Amino acid sequence: MVLRKYFSPDDYIEKYDMIDSEYMERHNRTAIISDLDNTLISWDAKDNTEDLKNWLSYLKENNIDIIILSNNNQERVESFCKALDLKYIFQARKPLTKGFEKALEKLGKKPGQVVVLGDQLMTDILGSKRLGKVRAVLVKPVTNTDGLNTRINRFFEARIIDKLKRNNEFPQMRKKIKI
Ligand SMILES: [Mg+2]
Repeated sequence: MVLRKYFSPDDYIEKYDMIDSEYMERHNRTAIISDLDNTLISWDAKDNTEDLKNWLSYLKENNIDIIILSNNNQERVESFCKALDLKYIFQARKPLTKGFEKALEKLGKKPGQVVVLGDQLMTDILGSKRLGKVRAVLVKPVTNTDGLNTRINRFFEARIIDKLKRNNEFPQMRKKIKI
């Protein structure tokens, strides 16, 4: 079925830091292509967080490469990524596959070697599925609010999720274990 093929994520997690070296090894992946807004940080936030910094250093220590692939503009993406010394692509036009291909090229990886992280079905997951072979991981949005374009996408997204859930084709969200 079309919905399942293009919109059903391979995994659904509560927070980006559930992607660790154990996860990457289990799925034979060595790099991450990640969305920025509402995936790693609130869409309207200017500053990065301590949590995010910790996760990024963890990735570095474990030789897991990461690149940011964002539909947002140059100013937003560049200032954020330069401060954290991250590779990036702005105005990616997800769900088109071109940006994903560029990201793979910058990482020097093939689709079967990467995890794609994102909070939106209509851009991150659809783009991943069109590309194929990447492991598409949906992340619960950092905040409940969105920019205008995203609000429109969310309208369709909610309907698709409902339909997939009714067919048991939508993964359960894996939650962080609270200590
Ligand atoms: Mg996003």
